Amino acid sequence: MQEIKITRTTHPKAKPDQNSLGFGKYFTDHMLRMDYTAGIGWHDPRIVPFANLELHPAAVVLHYGTEIFEGLKAYRRPDGKVQLFRPMENVRRMNNSARRMALPTMDEDLGLEALRAFVELEQDWVPSAPGTSLYLRPFVIATEPTLALHGISEAAYILIASPVASYFPDGLKPVDILIEDEDVRAVRGGTGEAKCGGNYAASTRAGDRAEDKGYSQVLWLDGVERKYVEEVGSMNVMFKIAGEVVTPKLTGSILPGITRKSAIELLASQGVTVSERLLSVDELIAAAEAGQLEEAWGIGTAAIISPIGGLAYRGKKYAIHGGEIGPFAQKLYDDLSGIQWGLKPDPFGWTFPVDQPAPDATGSEK
Ligand SMILES: *Cc1c(COP(=O)(O)O)cnc(C)c1O
Repeated sequence: MQEIKITRTTHPKAKPDQNSLGFGKYFTDHMLRMDYTAGIGWHDPRIVPFANLELHPAAVVLHYGTEIFEGLKAYRRPDGKVQLFRPMENVRRMNNSARRMALPTMDEDLGLEALRAFVELEQDWVPSAPGTSLYLRPFVIATEPTLALHGISEAAYILIASPVASYFPDGLKPVDILIEDEDVRAVRGGTGEAKCGGNYAASTRAGDRAEDKGYSQVLWLDGVERKYVEEVGSMNVMFKIAGEVVTPKLTGSILPGITRKSAIELLASQGVTVSERLLSVDELIAAAEAGQLEEAWGIGTAAIISPIGGLAYRGKKYAIHGGEIGPFAQKLYDDLSGIQWGLKPDPFGWTFPVDQPAPDATGSEK
């Protein structure tokens, strides 16, 4: 595997106050970059001081939105060590996104070592206050300076990191959600399965409209019939309906979340089967009206679990669990977050300490 060269900053920044981190406000001292050139592949992986990018004004990403990204966190354990959560899943998903967007894929070991080596260098930036973490944002952009549309022959992989606050500093707070029946986030055959910036650009209007009406996010319906529930905001979604735990099945327009997958596996180990199936908005509303919609929550890396306290659809409002977090979602949060922060044992082998040797780092000094 290629060696990752390190150039340290000569101007390290002061670390921000751990009580006012917010999300994506502060960035660490360095970034990792590598470049892709057709015929050569990915080359020159390097960690350099954090700085603005220089791009040709015709760079493909600026015109045609050819961009993919990932999101994962580094967690400070009680023993002071730093760990990642299933990082290889992010590396593989980024390659799947790359395939959909005709961007170059990357050797999995290189993708994993980029994350590990970068966090190892920046580990002082991983905060330790409860619920805080270092959010990692790798992304790939098409950098070729041309307005012509054809295969991508130049791209850049860049990894930046931001210390972030707990999503819910005062405990898990349920949010109100508006069911969106006009805009759609993604369609089958489109890019819903890929983690790409364009999906977010297309989602912004509905999210803004919901916020103006006092809702924190929208619940997306499928793009073909506007009938089946897909995701909530930029999270996957789960429900507990008359005892059954349900999550929309991955039909091609839903982002395959790693937190979603981990919850399904964790619950299976506890004897709870999650039904991955189609769930129509009519079934959901009927369950709410019958008092059978027991709990609902969004699920993703940023919040882990974001309980839904109320749903609004076509002018009617439905409270869920009296607007309070339910016991099922709370336990799932405690179990998942416990593994992520090293507060609970990890029988699944999901956690990944950053202070381990690289796959073939024989003799190389870091
Ligand atoms: C990233 C993302 C998710 C959640 O994925 P995780 O791997 O659990 O963080 C869900 N939906 C969308 C649209 C996303 O972009």
